[in-house]
Amino acid sequence: MGEKREVVCPNCHSKKVIKNGKSNGKQTYLCKTCYSRFLLNREKERYPVSLKKDVVRLYNEGHTLTELSRKFSIKVQTIHYWIKTLNRKK
Ligand SMILES: [Zn+2]
Repeated sequence: MGEKREVVCPNCHSKKVIKNGKSNGKQTYLCKTCYSRFLLNREKERYPVSLKKDVVRLYNEGHTLTELSRKFSIKVQTIHYWIKTLNRKK
């Protein structure tokens, strides 16, 4: 698939993010849109891709974000993010 790892601001989901040096050996980033500083969002890695695809498929079939959030115990913002990223890659 050659998926490029994109860094997205966890605060405003902007992609205008620059590297901002390291803290304790971890890469930190600075968002040029809302100027928040953050480490790479690990939350994304916590869920398997198959689950993401399932959730997005259910959403595309007409389930609401709130419904899916409750069903899978995943934050609405997280699901929303998956929908945005997965639906774009076609
Ligand atoms: Zn931001």
